[in-house]
Amino acid sequence: MSDHETHPSSCLTDLSGRRLSYLRISLTDRCNLRCDYCYHSVNESQIAERELSDDEVIRLVRVFSKMGFDKIRFTGGELLLRDRVVDLIRETAVTAGVSLIGITTNGLLLEKHLPGLIDAGLNRLNVSLDTLDREKFKRITGVDGLDRVTSVISRALETNVFPRVKINTLVMRGVNDDEIDKLADWGLSRRTDLRFIEFMPTRGSGWEESRFVSQDEMIERVRGPLDIDPVIEPNSGPALTFKQRGRPGRVSFISAVSRSFCNECNRLRVTSRGTVVGCLFSGKEIRIRELLDPRVDDETIIAVIKTLTRSQDFRRGIENRTRTWEGPSMRGIGG
Ligand code: SAM
Repeated sequence: MSDHETHPSSCLTDLSGRRLSYLRISLTDRCNLRCDYCYHSVNESQIAERELSDDEVIRLVRVFSKMGFDKIRFTGGELLLRDRVVDLIRETAVTAGVSLIGITTNGLLLEKHLPGLIDAGLNRLNVSLDTLDREKFKRITGVDGLDRVTSVISRALETNVFPRVKINTLVMRGVNDDEIDKLADWGLSRRTDLRFIEFMPTRGSGWEESRFVSQDEMIERVRGPLDIDPVIEPNSGPALTFKQRGRPGRVSFISAVSRSFCNECNRLRVTSRGTVVGCLFSGKEIRIRELLDPRVDDETIIAVIKTLTRSQDFRRGIENRTRTWEGPSMRGIGG
């Protein structure tokens, strides 16, 4: 047995008995888009605080892999603004026990990094895309980048490396709800899983009831023109997924507002400033950066994280589904 192999006793479970095995690490709060619903969620002093170093990030990956975490996703801010992101993926890929390595990106800088990322071991890809209309893309993000994003999605699909490219589409009334059927049709026509995401009341998002479109309404809008059937799969995570006969793609719905998926939640998040977040809606972050000092051994870090995840209010319990309205910062945590 290698040093890194996990024993059942070293697995991480929380107070509700959920086994945690999926870590999302935010590499930076910086972003090259200016989406209104996300950009204002971090302040400049937060951004000025030192990001985790590459060594600290890799230490995190190693420590969590020892606790049975087999899936690591890097996110942000926009993670591709980090200089050595390809090296981080490469080192993650050779970490024993880690088999799924993903990124969530806005796609703007992906073209030049894609071959290197794939060569380094990337095998899961999520790209955010809220509209197929060039002018609207500019209005939402502040950048004329639609063609760059759609063409890199095609390029990623051609590589055949990713089982599906997942597309994250945040839906807001009056912004892109008129495109729901068109986006669904686009997603179904290629090997993507286009995931419609309910607008969450996160910090600085400008959330209002009037801008919110529920999962039920979205499904109805897709079902109008398109004949879709549910896909029943084990371990499908928080998404409710549909397919259409004879077409390669899928559409899914991620609905943290109108539905709860606490039962299936197996994830922990670490911000780029080295705090652990147990649940997007628990409102609690715990700083572990100091623990990543080379003088602290892995077992000490593991013991602290175990105590943390079993503390009462750190991970929202399965039974406690009420929302916290002050909300998390999406740009700070990475979704
Ligand atoms: N830069 C990367 C990207 O664009 O995918 C990763 C960070 S971004 C914060 C991750 C995802 O969070 C995006 O798909 C974005 O649409 C989503 N997001 C941001 N604010 C949100 C909100 N208030 N409700 C739901 N999703 C949100």
